[in-house]
Amino acid sequence: MKDLKYFEKELNKCSKCGLCQGVCPIYKQTGNECAVSKGKFIMLNGVAKNDLELSDVINNYLNLCTGCGKCSDFCPAGIDACHIINTAKYEYVKSKNIEQFKNFLFSKIVFDFGIKFLKFFTKKFKTKNTNISDEKFVYFKGCVNQIFPNTDKYLSKIFKNKIEIIDPDFECCGLPFLMNGDMKSFNKCLNNNLNLIPQNTDFIITDCASCADTIEKYKKYTDKINNIKTLNWGEIIAQKNMKFKFKKSVKFTFHKPCHLKNDDFLEKIIKNCDNAQYIKMNNYDDCCGFAGSFAVKNFKISQKILKEKIKNIEATNADYVVTVCPSCLAGLKQGLLTYGNKNIKAVSLLEFLAMGA
Ligand code: SF4
Ligand code: SF4
Repeated sequence: MKDLKYFEKELNKCSKCGLCQGVCPIYKQTGNECAVSKGKFIMLNGVAKNDLELSDVINNYLNLCTGCGKCSDFCPAGIDACHIINTAKYEYVKSKNIEQFKNFLFSKIVFDFGIKFLKFFTKKFKTKNTNISDEKFVYFKGCVNQIFPNTDKYLSKIFKNKIEIIDPDFECCGLPFLMNGDMKSFNKCLNNNLNLIPQNTDFIITDCASCADTIEKYKKYTDKINNIKTLNWGEIIAQKNMKFKFKKSVKFTFHKPCHLKNDDFLEKIIKNCDNAQYIKMNNYDDCCGFAGSFAVKNFKISQKILKEKIKNIEATNADYVVTVCPSCLAGLKQGLLTYGNKNIKAVSLLEFLAMGA
């Protein structure tokens, strides 16, 4: 694990150009310069130089972050904001017994118990008729997907059991722990998951953009691997040029999760959906504000961001808002229920396509 000192050079690369302010969902809502990476880097530079103490105040600003990574995508210096922010959170937690105890409670009691409880209602994926095809896909289901236990049913319907899906019962990708500075639990998830990947696996398939992004980042936290490539089920469906026909005419829009790097598959899928009209929403790639524990720690800001998203969804007049991240899906469902038109349904891409399969 690298420490904050290691990033001193990278922190110095920040030219204070402010481009990150234009894309940061927190800055857009609060206008607070300490909340965006530019401001965070000024403080962390002081900490790395031992001019400042990594105080509770600085940690509160570190927690004002959805981990969307948009600031890094737009940063001309290419500074990896999430890696630096998560490292600083880890250093803060390391220095505070109370924070370590809170993380212990969260990881061991709330999270472990919650996932075990949800897994009770979901089944491991079992492919039928595997002799039909020798195509094998290693599926990383992810823990939030346990809340939506029908994913297996949708996959069976879409692929008609013509592919073999290997579901090694992976653990959580570790993102909730990484975002809380709990490196012990994150490393446990990382190591367990790496041990479960079958040999000669070219790609890991997910339907969660956040899991995919975290798995691809594993290489930053371990020497055991160079690179792991992930693909979204949407990319497989587009590559296979699969066709869908909806019985009843439907209108749909798409929310692009912040962690989804490439949504080129969407265009092809849209063309292949008969009787389904796509309407692009305004700012379709803006954060939904959910972001796991961020929504709990910063409820008001999270809901402000979510309200904007719901407004944009409603303006499309669509029947469905489709996405490829179970966390975003949970947030969108809550947002539509609380602030929006209850007739609009938030569904995963797999659920949506299963309707037309
Ligand atoms: S975009 Fe990058 S270089 Fe510019 S202020 Fe933000 S962090 Fe600094
Ligand atoms: S990761 Fe996202 S929320 Fe966090 S500082 Fe960067 S743009 Fe803002």
